[in-house]
Amino acid sequence: MPEIRSNPITGDWVIIATERARRPEEFTRAAVRRQLPARDPECPFCPGNEHRTPEEQFRVPGPDGGWLVRAVPNRFAALTPEGDAGRHVNGFRTCLDGVGLHEVIVETPAHDASPAALPVAHVERVLEAYRHRLRAFYKDRRIEHVIVFKNHGEAAGTSLVHPHSQIVGMPVLPNQLRARLEEAMRHWGNFGECLYCRTLREELREGVRVVAQNGSFAAFVPYAALSPFHVWVFPRHHSAYFGDVTDGQLAELAALLREVLARIGVALNDPDYNYVLRSLSPQEGALKYFHWYISLVPRVTKAAGFELGTGMFINTALPEASAEFLRRVAVPG
Ligand SMILES: [Zn+2]
Ligand SMILES: [Zn+2]
Repeated sequence: MPEIRSNPITGDWVIIATERARRPEEFTRAAVRRQLPARDPECPFCPGNEHRTPEEQFRVPGPDGGWLVRAVPNRFAALTPEGDAGRHVNGFRTCLDGVGLHEVIVETPAHDASPAALPVAHVERVLEAYRHRLRAFYKDRRIEHVIVFKNHGEAAGTSLVHPHSQIVGMPVLPNQLRARLEEAMRHWGNFGECLYCRTLREELREGVRVVAQNGSFAAFVPYAALSPFHVWVFPRHHSAYFGDVTDGQLAELAALLREVLARIGVALNDPDYNYVLRSLSPQEGALKYFHWYISLVPRVTKAAGFELGTGMFINTALPEASAEFLRRVAVPG
């Protein structure tokens, strides 16, 4: 019989197709990506084309006056940086001026780099850029919420192949965040404990869905994973604000994220994926009931009408089997 599992953190119901579940191997991509040049003269993110992006906001300097990572405003920003986030209420309709910040974080000068194969020290520099921009975005008083995300591959919604992430600061709190905050607060009210700390403790105790871990972080497939190989990365220490991570923790996060990406890359043959870093603001950093975390979803299946119509998901792989498959693959060190 299929199981309908509940995810207490998101409030989602997920149908786990236990009987017609596919074996983890069946999600491995057949085709390989086409070979990319190390540098593309047409690519706005390649070295030598810096003038083709809007004014640089941050860089991790590299050798010979170059750079390792840079952050630039998105030329096709979803929101505009100028103006006040004025709210207009007209009868029962509400509208905000579309003010916000939207930047691209170019992760490496190498056009053909695979994020899963970057050296850990370089992933650390990328995370350092996330931390720097997140802190800067939250200093803007118009910004209510900041999200960092990565689209890797066409199925994940990217149009430029040069490795990059995006960061968006918006003047509203997204509904997904509101729902998670409400669930977290309810759990705190009922049990007097952080739902995220409890989830992590249980996952580490059971062990069957754990993918990888180190001293400061753990990666696991959620009990009610919304799709095959869906992975959450949680800090072991309680914190609601990513901007508070120390340099030491950043290094450990880089090692773990790199390992998870490498495991997924090897196991599924470089699939398209998205990841999202969820964090509250510095003012909310000390909240006792919320955790910042990273959610990673390989695009190996497609959400369709059922998902659209219910907000529920059908996962055609057992979360425990997904985790075991990712644990077992041999990854280069
Ligand atoms: Zn490029
Ligand atoms: Zn916690």
